[in-house]
Amino acid sequence: MLKGKTALVTGSTSGIGLGIAKALAQQGANIVLNGFGDAQGPKREIEALGVEVDYHGADMSLPAEIEAMMAFAAQRFGRVDILVNNAGIQHVARVEHFPPERWDAVIAINLSSAFHATRLALPAMLAADAGKGWGRIINVASVHGLVASAEKSAYVAAKHGLVGLTKVTALENATTGVTCNAICPGWVLTPLVQKQVDAKAQALNLSNAEATKLLLGEKEPSLQFTTPEELGALAVFFCSPAADNVRGVAWNMDGGWAAQ
Ligand code: NAD
Repeated sequence: MLKGKTALVTGSTSGIGLGIAKALAQQGANIVLNGFGDAQGPKREIEALGVEVDYHGADMSLPAEIEAMMAFAAQRFGRVDILVNNAGIQHVARVEHFPPERWDAVIAINLSSAFHATRLALPAMLAADAGKGWGRIINVASVHGLVASAEKSAYVAAKHGLVGLTKVTALENATTGVTCNAICPGWVLTPLVQKQVDAKAQALNLSNAEATKLLLGEKEPSLQFTTPEELGALAVFFCSPAADNVRGVAWNMDGGWAAQ
């Protein structure tokens, strides 16, 4: 379905971003990976799906590096057709103890990076398909873009902001072939969440299994993690012709978390 298209997925060296990159590659899209840590392993995994893959190590907290990444992608593949704004970090502390530099980093990586990548991707998307426009912008927000939890002020503010940015981007391009939607996962067992399980296990002297059960039980009625594969399938749907008129939604895949 996506043969000949190019998808750039930020923060795709692990977790949800890698899951979405693989799902888009399975549909034939060429992929630009981004993120820290080992990029060669993910690159090989996606190449094995028979598409072209490249990697840019831009630090998504730095607008100049985001500009370099977008220019690199355009030069390598001609255009970014699908932009997945996924890179994100977490920091947990009460507001009065929240280090200001962590606040700035969370807002920069989880929110401002999406603004920069989107503003740089839009002109080519709007010019695509002989000027009718074609593009898909998918923002990986969170159930924390819809509801809050204590001790996550920067994350919740950034994710609510990202849902707002999604709606504005969708509206500004509503008469074109460019759509913008958000995905709002509940708990997904990635390194980002494993750190929170580890903190709980240590604080309460629990085993990994007990801490995991407690974490899910506090928020997620299904008591099950959402998987990167399930989120990848939702991203593929947003890229499909059936989703041509899906614009500005914030779709939660959260085991019932936000329904409570
Ligand atoms: P993860 O830690 O597995 O992956 C995060 C990715 O972002 C990695 O590739 C990392 O290298 C990259 N990254 C971090 N800082 C970066 C920076 N400055 N520049 C470039 N890349 C950077 O985490 P994940 O759980 O897969 O999270 C992915 C997204 O999903 C995040 O936006 C997160 O907020 C969101 N999310 C996660 C969950 C969950 O339960 N795991 C739930 C809801 C939303």
